[in-house]
Amino acid sequence: MVATRPDIDTISITRTFDGIEAAAHRVISQTGGMASFIKDAKIAVLKPNFVAGRSAETGSTTSFALLKAVAEEVHACGAEPVLCETPGTEFDREATYTILGVEKFCADNGIRIVRIDPEGGEQDWIELQPAGAKRLRRFRIPRFMQEACFINLPVLKTHVVSTMTLGMKNPMGILPRPDRRAMHTLGIAQCIVDMNRGIKPDLTIIDGSVGQDGEGPLYGDKADLQVLVAGRDSLAVDLVCCQLVGIKPRAIPHLKLALEQLGQPSWNLIGEDTGVIKQFRLPEQKTVYRFIFWLMYPLDYPYSWIAERGKHFCTTLYSTGLVGTRPQINEASCTRCGICVETCPLPNVIDLKTLQVNYKTCQRCLLCYEACPENAISVKGYSGTRKPL
Ligand code: SF4
Ligand code: SF4
Repeated sequence: MVATRPDIDTISITRTFDGIEAAAHRVISQTGGMASFIKDAKIAVLKPNFVAGRSAETGSTTSFALLKAVAEEVHACGAEPVLCETPGTEFDREATYTILGVEKFCADNGIRIVRIDPEGGEQDWIELQPAGAKRLRRFRIPRFMQEACFINLPVLKTHVVSTMTLGMKNPMGILPRPDRRAMHTLGIAQCIVDMNRGIKPDLTIIDGSVGQDGEGPLYGDKADLQVLVAGRDSLAVDLVCCQLVGIKPRAIPHLKLALEQLGQPSWNLIGEDTGVIKQFRLPEQKTVYRFIFWLMYPLDYPYSWIAERGKHFCTTLYSTGLVGTRPQINEASCTRCGICVETCPLPNVIDLKTLQVNYKTCQRCLLCYEACPENAISVKGYSGTRKPL
């Protein structure tokens, strides 16, 4: 990770009309070439956004094509690409990897997956205490990242809690769950700024090959932006992304704080002048929803004292099947054809006899909902205001 923010960044914008891989090689070349980011590092940590088991086609997660191109560039520099990512606390890492097909993709492309202890066991982590941090005064990053090149690969999408999730927010996925809990409890906007005082990616490439508008980051509208944006300075990259989707950066709480506290960055644009590709609609700010979502994190402190290690208040709450986005089978319309069971990437989640979904293991990917030929599956509990897909 570079220690300082560049004085003037070079930001590259390119469309993906000729394919995501070709576009990825282009932005890497335009921002200085992979060797300039890798330097002497033997490892390059690729940090995608795999927040949940929702495919890149939905605009929720980073596309494999982008990861593949980056891994090729890292290999060509003689370094090893390593994937490190833990989904949102309410989702299971292994089940998420299974749904997305991460294991096979990484095996096919020479990417090593590092599975660090998400609960922050001492052996895997080192603590950072970034100077100038206001609320997140200490947090941990994976120990092996100290000498590694850090390549940040977020998605260009909206977020019902942080309004947008771009380059500055994405490194949250490499922090252990207790530190993410602290970020939510102490105030996500300020904590994102504080985190970025300690974590400075060597390169950020924002995946807007699809992107998500409205009630992102999981169940919003596909945006079909067909663009990649790359640079070294996460704040500068995020500001450019806001321009592409017609959003004022100061409407995004953590970008507003970043501009006030870190200052306005400077950059040179290279690549395509796209103007506003699509005017985004930010998620509606529902105070009650936001408060209930926030409350899950402070409540997790006492809960984790009594719960088994690795269990969290939100996972237990979601497993009741009473909250969160979830599929539900309507017995009257169901023909028991079994297609949903065959489609579900996880074993024994849907019981065809009882037509019940096991919410302890269901990862809310909604593939069953999309596959049902009888429209017998409805989606409950959308966090936003939109109608079901
Ligand atoms: S796919 Fe639809 S109709 Fe077929 S078993 Fe599942 S819910 Fe019933
Ligand atoms: S039951 Fe449906 S939503 Fe749940 S994991 Fe299976 S396919 Fe995904």
